[in-house]
Amino acid sequence: MPARDFFHSVMRIGPVQIGTRRDRHGHTRHAAVCTTDGCGWSSDYSSSSAAQLAARTHRCTPR
Ligand SMILES: [Zn+2]
Repeated sequence: MPARDFFHSVMRIGPVQIGTRRDRHGHTRHAAVCTTDGCGWSSDYSSSSAAQLAARTHRCTPR
């Protein structure tokens, strides 16, 4: 898995890892990243609760 600069993992929900990072404007963003091979889903959210909700409802794309 490629390392992200300034990515700090804070929790894990199923295969989805949630972490915080700084964007280029210095704002904290909450990123949800699926760690399943072949899925590759990731998304940024402005709040941790939104990222957790997305992680709980995420379904991997079947292959
Ligand atoms: Zn997935």
